[in-house]
Amino acid sequence: EPTAIDSAWLAAHPLPVHGEGTDKNSRGRVLAVGGSRRVPGGLLLTGEAALRVGAGKLMLATVASAAPLLGIAMPEAGVTALQEDADGEIAGEAGVLAQESRRCDTIVLGPAISDRTAAARLVQQLADDPPEGAALVLDAAAVACAGPLSGRLASAFGGRLVLTPHLGEMAALCECDADEVARDREAVVLRTAERFRAVVLLKHSSTLVAAPDGQTLLRYAGGGVGLATGGSGDVLAGAIAGLVARGADPLVAAGWGVWLHGEAGSALAMANGPLGFLGRELLPQLPRLLPR
Ligand code: AMP
Ligand code: MG
Repeated sequence: EPTAIDSAWLAAHPLPVHGEGTDKNSRGRVLAVGGSRRVPGGLLLTGEAALRVGAGKLMLATVASAAPLLGIAMPEAGVTALQEDADGEIAGEAGVLAQESRRCDTIVLGPAISDRTAAARLVQQLADDPPEGAALVLDAAAVACAGPLSGRLASAFGGRLVLTPHLGEMAALCECDADEVARDREAVVLRTAERFRAVVLLKHSSTLVAAPDGQTLLRYAGGGVGLATGGSGDVLAGAIAGLVARGADPLVAAGWGVWLHGEAGSALAMANGPLGFLGRELLPQLPRLLPR
């Protein structure tokens, strides 16, 4: 039986405390990598979520055509323009990504990348030349493509890796079909966690979170159906990355991230009705849900 992510679990797994005398450097630096010409704004949701859960600093790395626009949309962030291929995807510029990744504590890769081949290039680069000590959160296309790189990811980022697939992405990750994943969700998420030495989420109306030991399993079943909307998962990935950057253990960050995202959805549903709120409207809900 999975352990519920509820007030008792949250109380037993507190977030790091950053006292009044501390500065932003103590709350970590997040690098969010993603976006494409087709989905130029999605990375903003991820980046803003990281800051909304208290991360100290944010860098966005995205396709050259979108980079300056993101910088203006989000003046709190630094921006790096990555070379763009003819399809409007990040082309994969090993040097620039490696350089940026060395300056940060947590990398979140994948949101708003439209193409799995493009995502795979970037995952491969990070696995081949991993920044020492940094944690990695893989979401969306970057998690769907990660199967063939499991060994290299485990040795480069094992214990500091978080994967956030929904059912379809999990099926791609495991190279099986979505029905198989749906049939035995608990076994699939535990097996994947052990294989990657990662904290693995399986996002759903009832979300499972497995620890890298392949034994510990958490579950969160709140949030409401309104969370099933474009950009919602991008917010979740950023929230988890932000909490990891603050120094939370990856499992604690994942549990808290899932809970914060869910409670933000519940609050919006309560105030405005169950459907029709936007992914970006989750963001301003996050700070007041954080422990005081
Ligand atoms: P994504 O598909 O990446 O945008 O992520 C969707 C997010 O919404 C995940 O965090 C899911 O757990 C959540 N979600 C999707 N459907 C439901 C639902 N019916 N009830 C509650 N949460 C949901
Ligand atoms: Mg998603």
